[in-house]
Order: sequence, then structure tokens, then C-alpha cells
Amino acid sequence: MATMSRKRRSRRRSWSQVIRRVTQAAFALFILAVSVRHALLEGTTTTASIDALCPFGGLETLWRFLSEGTYVPKTHTSNLVLGLGLLLGTLISGAAFCGWICPFGTLQDALTWLRTKLRLPEVQVPSQLDRWLRYGRFVTLALVLYMTASTVKLWFANYDPYRTIFGLGWLFEFNMAEHWPAYLVAIVILALSFFIPRFWCKYICPLGGVLSLLGHFSLLRIRRNASSCKSCTLCETLCPVGLPVASANPRVSTNCIGCLACVDTCPRHGALEVQLAPAWLDGLRSLAHRLHHPSTTKEVTP
Ligand code: SF4
Ligand code: SF4
Repeated sequence: MATMSRKRRSRRRSWSQVIRRVTQAAFALFILAVSVRHALLEGTTTTASIDALCPFGGLETLWRFLSEGTYVPKTHTSNLVLGLGLLLGTLISGAAFCGWICPFGTLQDALTWLRTKLRLPEVQVPSQLDRWLRYGRFVTLALVLYMTASTVKLWFANYDPYRTIFGLGWLFEFNMAEHWPAYLVAIVILALSFFIPRFWCKYICPLGGVLSLLGHFSLLRIRRNASSCKSCTLCETLCPVGLPVASANPRVSTNCIGCLACVDTCPRHGALEVQLAPAWLDGLRSLAHRLHHPSTTKEVTP
């Protein structure tokens, strides 16, 4: 019976992860197709570049749009629309964009897959160092916003490994003398991501930093039910961004990219669930409880 149920779980697991992989691949191929079309048809007709399809570009150009009604060069209304769409999506499901859509996240997952196929070891970052390194995303974010505002250019485009790789400039207009910093950054990030899963997402991506902050307000969160959990840590072994899921109390961190690998893997029914459980809802519940029971000081357990 237990074996049957495990089989059923694993079938469910593979299907949800297959759907995620197909979704990731579809978005990555779409972006590559946009870049190929842009490179081949530029000058003959109007074609979108991947700059115009980047939701982070919406944030980079937002200050200029609000203050002067114009855009930072290479950004368009499309960046603002996509940025707004991502904001709304994050308020619903946290940073699922990173786990399901972002092509650079997909590429890093592919590198991890390749490393495991080659049976090469993962480099373990000590937990204390890992905690500090995650602040790197906010350093990048502050630097990018400052430099974009002061140069009035898409400053980050010269270093962004996502743009370097998926923009296909290295294929259609290779120029070592001019673009060597971008190539160097991309190669270093790819090498690090090969040995440390989602290195870029965890430590450097400025968009990831923004989404993890917004994630505090998201409606859907994964919660661990301590009474059902048997502390086997199986969930943690599959988490691509190395979160301490087995000790989540009760919500997993807002650094979660919503891949659902932990939920699908957990052998205990109900131990990990996606719930409508924003932190502020718990605050409201607690407040309502106190108003209805003014004599009791005990907090409502979320
Ligand atoms: S896999 Fe499930 S039971 Fe095991 S530690 Fe994680 S939440 Fe707990
Ligand atoms: S906590 Fe779970 S859903 Fe979030 S990134 Fe880790 S494995 Fe994926």
C-alpha cells in the first residue's frame, strides 16, 4: 500500500516537473527566436529585441518615465507593461517567474542537470557565507539603478549575462575588443552556476532581489506543517536555491522560486502545502482574535 502511494506520488511529481520543464524550455526558445529574428531582420523591418521584453527594464526606466515622461534608451512601454505584469504575478505567487519563466534560470537548471549527469560534485557554500552572499542581489540592484540614473543608459546591458547569452550578440556580431567585459562576466557566471546551482539567482540577480522583497506580500506561499513533517530533509536536497525547507516555520523563505520540487517530493501528506497564506493575513487574524478576545494575550497560531 505504502509502495503504491509512493508510486502515485512520484508519478504526480514527474508530471508537475515535466510541465515546469516544458514551460521553461518554451520561454527560453521564444526568447532565442526573438533574438534570431532581431539579428537577421534588423534594419529591414521593425523587430523586438530582448531588451524590449525584459520586465527588469521596466524598473530601470521607471524613474525617467515618471519624472520626464520618456524612456531610458532601448526601453519601451513594453518594459513597463511587463514589469507591471510581473509585479502583479509576484503579489499572487511570489518569485515563480524565476522558477518557471526566466530563461537564465532555465539555463542554470540545465547546467546543474549536466553536472549531475557528469557525476561532478556540487560546491557547497557554507551557510553563514550563503546568508551574506544573498545580500549581493541588493548590492547589484542599487548599483544598476544608480548607474542607469546617472548615465541615462541601460548600463547593466553591458554586463548582464542573460542579455549577453540570450541576445546572441556573441553569435551574430562577435566583437572581443568591445564586448570582452560582457563575455568575461557571462563565462564566469556560467562556470560558477555549473558548480553552485542557481548561483546567479541566489547571489547576484537584481530582479531576484526585487521579487524576494515583494514575495513578503504574495498571496500564495508554501507552508510547512510541523506536526506532519518527519524532518527527513528530502525537500531540501531538491531545492534549487538551497532553502532550509525542512525547518520552515511555517512559511518557506521569500527566496523560494516556486518550483514546487519540495512539495512534490515530500513523502508526508500535508507536511508541505501551497496555501493562501500571506504574512499580513496572519497579522490581521491575530488582530481580529485580540479584538474578539481582549482578555487573552495568546497569539493565534498561523
Ligand atoms: S520532505 Fe516533508 S517530511 Fe521531509 S523534512 Fe521536508 S517537509 Fe518534512
Ligand atoms: S522551497 Fe520548494 S518550491 Fe521553493 S525553490 Fe525550494 S524546492 Fe522550489
